[in-house]
Amino acid sequence: MTAVPSEAAELVFHDAHNRRGAPWKSRTHCDYGHPFDERNTLRRTDSTPPGARRCRICHRAAARRWHAKRRAARAARACA
Ligand SMILES: [Zn+2]
Repeated sequence: MTAVPSEAAELVFHDAHNRRGAPWKSRTHCDYGHPFDERNTLRRTDSTPPGARRCRICHRAAARRWHAKRRAARAARACA
């Protein structure tokens, strides 16, 4: 059976990958091709490096997957 990397591990991998490649601030699109424009860019002020950008579409998709996983885990416990 193949180990499936967790959501967090996946995100860390992508971050490291980006840093090794093109300078983050010069990127115009995220790994999945979403544009870093005014509406689709989240600016993080609570992290290092400050002002790091996050694709809003990917952020929402990741959050939705995380919540779905949490809901499924909670439902499984409730039924047990
Ligand atoms: Zn994206």
